[in-house]
Amino acid sequence: MDLLGILQSRFGFPAFRPHQAEACSVLASGESALLVMPTGAGKSLCYQLPAIARGGSALVISPLISLMEDQVAKLCAQGFNAARIHSGRPKPESRDVCYDWEAGKLDFLFIAPERLRVPGFVEWLARRKPGLIAVDEAHCISEWGHDFRPDYRLLGERLAVLRLGSGTKELAGEGQAQFRPTAAEIEPDPSPVIAMTATATPTVQRDICEQLGLQNARRLIHGFRRQNLAVECVDMKPSQRADTVLRLLGEKGSGSRSVPDPFLLAPAKGTGTSAALRSQSPLPAIVYVPSRKECDALAAKLADHVACLPYHAGLDASTRDKAQAAFQSGEVQVIVATIAFGMGIDKADVRTVVHTALPATVEGYYQEIGRAGRDGKPSRAILLYGWADRRLHEFFLDRDYPPAAELERVWRALGGRSGSIEEIAADLDLNEQDASRHLERLMALGGAGVDADGRVIRGDADWRPGYAARVSHRREQLDAVYAFADGRGCRMAALVAHFGEQDARPCGICDVCAPEACVIKRFRKPTPREHDLLCRIIGALQERDGRTPKQLHESALREGELDIRRFRELLGGLAAAGAVHMQADAFEKDGKLINFERAFLTREAKAEGIHAANWVNLPDDESAVPAEKPARKARQKSAKQAIAQAESLAEPDAEIVQALKGWRLTQAKSEGVQAFRILSNKTLNAIARDKPTTEEQLLRVPGIGPQKLEAYGAGILETVRGQRDA
Ligand code: ADP
Ligand code: MG
Repeated sequence: MDLLGILQSRFGFPAFRPHQAEACSVLASGESALLVMPTGAGKSLCYQLPAIARGGSALVISPLISLMEDQVAKLCAQGFNAARIHSGRPKPESRDVCYDWEAGKLDFLFIAPERLRVPGFVEWLARRKPGLIAVDEAHCISEWGHDFRPDYRLLGERLAVLRLGSGTKELAGEGQAQFRPTAAEIEPDPSPVIAMTATATPTVQRDICEQLGLQNARRLIHGFRRQNLAVECVDMKPSQRADTVLRLLGEKGSGSRSVPDPFLLAPAKGTGTSAALRSQSPLPAIVYVPSRKECDALAAKLADHVACLPYHAGLDASTRDKAQAAFQSGEVQVIVATIAFGMGIDKADVRTVVHTALPATVEGYYQEIGRAGRDGKPSRAILLYGWADRRLHEFFLDRDYPPAAELERVWRALGGRSGSIEEIAADLDLNEQDASRHLERLMALGGAGVDADGRVIRGDADWRPGYAARVSHRREQLDAVYAFADGRGCRMAALVAHFGEQDARPCGICDVCAPEACVIKRFRKPTPREHDLLCRIIGALQERDGRTPKQLHESALREGELDIRRFRELLGGLAAAGAVHMQADAFEKDGKLINFERAFLTREAKAEGIHAANWVNLPDDESAVPAEKPARKARQKSAKQAIAQAESLAEPDAEIVQALKGWRLTQAKSEGVQAFRILSNKTLNAIARDKPTTEEQLLRVPGIGPQKLEAYGAGILETVRGQRDA
C-alpha cells in the first residue's frame, strides 16, 4: 500500500514524522497496536491514515467533546466525511449520523465513551463492522492512569462486539454487564484497534492492553524525549511563587531579559538551545495552578502587566471558550489555568509552561509541559514546588481514599438489602457526599453495584486487595512526582525513564545539565563547611562509585551531621558542576517499576579529585534549606492532624447531644426531610463539643457553612444555650 502517497495526497503532509510510518503500516495491515507517543507527536494521523488506506468507516472513541469537535472539524476541512455523537449534539442530528454510519457513508465516526451506556447504541453501531477502531487517550481506561474514566471500562466489554460488527443477535436480551465474549468467540478477522495515549507508564501500558483485550497487539512506545524543552525545578516557599511568576512573565521587557550573571563555575555546556532560550521571550505561556482561587488571584495579578486570562472549571463554558480562543489567536499571551485547561488545544508556539505547585502525578505533569514548544523551538517548563505541596497532596489522598474500615462498614450495610445513596448515608450516619464517594470506590472494584431499579446493592467480597493496591499506587505516584522534582539528575532523562523508554542521555539544557541557563534558580558559592562536605562526598565516590544518594549520605557523613535533603542539594551542586553524573536506574518490584538514581564521578572529576569541589555553586534559595526549624515544622502540620488533635481534646457534651438530636428531629419533621439532611451526627457532635455561644463560633464548627448558619443558627444556638444554662 502506498501510505506515503496517501499522506501527501489526502492529508497534505510532505513526509511522515518519526514513528508514524511504522504505526500506520501496522494498522493498515490489520494488526492492532498500542501507540504511546508524547503529546503533539502526531498520533491522530496514525489512525486516520490507515483508516483511509483500509477503507470503510472508522470508529473513534474520544473522551472529550472539545477534542472531538476539533478533530471532526479538521477532518472535514481536509475533505473527509467525519461525524460525531455526543451529549452536546441535537438528537435529530445524531440520529442522522447513525443512519449515515449504517449506510457506510462516513469515513470517521467519533463517539464519547458514555455513549456506550446508552441502551441499544452499541448494538446499532455493531450493525457495521468498522474498518478500524481508534481509542484516543486510552490511559483513561486504566485506574492506574492519571485520568481514569469509568465509562472507558465499558469499552473492555463492548470492544469485542464492535470489532466484529455482528453483535446484534448475541446481545439481544443479555444483561449488558455480563456480556463479554471470550477470545474464542471472536472471529478470525476482527477490526484492528489502535489505542493511543501520551502518558502511559509501563504499568498503565500493560493495563490498557489487558482491559482492551490487546495482549497480542504491537507495542509502539516512542519519543518521550523532548529535545527543545528545558525543565527547571525550583524548591520555593508558596508565598514567593506568585511574585516569581510575575517576574518571569509579567515584567516589562521580559522578552529581552538576559539571565543573571553567569557566575558560573561549570564550563558552559550551553547548547544552541540554551543560548536561544536565554534571548527569547517567555511568552506565550500557560501557568498551571492548583486551585481556582489561586487561578483567579494570579491571573488578576499578572493582568496588570501582560494580556492574561484565568481558565478553570468554575467559569462558565462560554467564558472558558473565549479565553481559549483568545489564547489560541495570540490576543492573550498568558493563560492561568487549573488542569482543566489544555486538552484539545493546538497552539504550537507556547514558549513556557509554569507549574506553581507540585503536580499530582508525573504523567499529568509530562502531559502539561508537553503543551510547550510543539513547534520544535526552544521552550521552558518551570516547576515551583516544595515539601508543603507534598503534604497537601497527602491530605487529599487521605480524604479521597478513606481507611478501608470505612468502606467495609458501607459494604456490610449493603448486605441483604438494596438502597438509595440517601438511605445508606442515613443508616450509617454519613453525609451523602462521603457515602457516594465510598460507594464509588466500592463500585469501581466490584464491591457494590446497581440493580435494575437503580438502587445500590452489595457486590463481590473481593474488593479489599484492589482497594489496598489502589491506595498504595496513589502513594507511589506521589513519591514519584516528588522524587522527580527533588531529583538531582538530568530532568529529561528522569522523565523518559519514568515512561519506560530506555534512554538515559543527559539533555544538556535542564537546570541540572545547564544551570547557567536557569531563569529562576540563583546560585552562590559554597560556605567553607559546605566545601568540606563536598570534598568528603567526592572522597566517598572515589572509594566506591555508583552509590545511591541515600547510601552516599550514610557513608560519607556522620549520623545526624546533615539531613538528607540538604545533602541532596550538595550532590545536586556536584552534578550541576559536571563533577558527578546522576544516572537514572530502576528495578521491578511486585510487577512495578521503582525508579532511583545513582551517582558517578565524571571523568573530569576523577582526574581532578577533591579539587572538583571548587567547581560547585549551590542554589541561592532560602527555601532550598530544608524545613528543619521546629517552628516551621509545627506549622506544617496538616489540617487533618490539627482537626484530629482538636477532636481528641474535648468530648462532646452528652446532654447537649441529646438536646440537639431532639431539636433536629423536630426540625426534620417540620421540613419533611430526613434528620441527617439537617445536620450530620458528626457536625452535631462537633457542636456539642465546642458549645458555641455566638454565630461566629458556630461558623467555626466543621460542617457549618453560611447556609446552615442562616437556616439553623438561631435554633442551634438556643438549644446549646438552654443546656449550658441548665
Ligand atoms: P497527538 O495526538 O500526538 O498529541 P496530533 O495528532 O494532535 O498529536 O498532532 C499534532 C499536530 O501535528 C497536528 O497539528 C497535526 O496536524 C500535525 N502533524 C501530524 N502529523 C504530521 C506530519 N506528518 N507532518 C506535519 N504535521 C503533522
Ligand atoms: Mg491526540
